[in-house]
Amino acid sequence: MLPEIVNKDSVVEVRESKAVEKSSFKKTVGYTNQEISNFKNDTFIVLKKLDTTFSYNMKYATKDNFLKENVYDCDDCLVRYETAKQLIKANTEFKKLGYHIQFFDCYRPLDIQKKMWKIFPDKRYVANPIKGSNHNRGTAVDITLVNSLEKPLAMGTKFDFFGRKAHHAYQNLPKEVLENRKLLKSVMIKNGFWAITSEWWHYNLNQSHRYPVSNFKTTCE
Ligand SMILES: [Zn+2]
Repeated sequence: MLPEIVNKDSVVEVRESKAVEKSSFKKTVGYTNQEISNFKNDTFIVLKKLDTTFSYNMKYATKDNFLKENVYDCDDCLVRYETAKQLIKANTEFKKLGYHIQFFDCYRPLDIQKKMWKIFPDKRYVANPIKGSNHNRGTAVDITLVNSLEKPLAMGTKFDFFGRKAHHAYQNLPKEVLENRKLLKSVMIKNGFWAITSEWWHYNLNQSHRYPVSNFKTTCE
């Protein structure tokens, strides 16, 4: 009997430590049902207030990005409500496999796009601000997959690696990496997004052009 009791205790301990980890999410006040029922597809929403099962590594709110500068006032992930609904659907599928989406970038004000273009004017990797990026529309996200311990799956390159190795067509990578990229891509495409050839992490909502480019600054409330 004793080992069983010890076992049970250890299970309880594990559960408790997970609860402590997750409590950090609960500091965020979620949207009320009333607020959600008033959202239109084009409403910009703070994703963590709608769903607490994503995780975040918002690179442009740190100096760890190709601009070498923190260009955001807030590290919240904002997207249009339609984008959010599709992301939640995709994440539901990933969670069944023990993974979830982690974000590197979401909505990006047009002024930041201009700054990026000035530093890196290569349209394979940075959208020309004259046309605007789907990030400026609140319909594009830069993502990876992490496991339940927040460990990222191997994807072959770091986020914002501007080179062939980050392209979907690049095959000279370990099998595990190719499978991880394929999983990410297939589930995102199934749930209303499309990929670009040059970045494994970037996904656009289908028909993003229906939404205008925006330039409001994000501020954490
Ligand atoms: Zn992107």
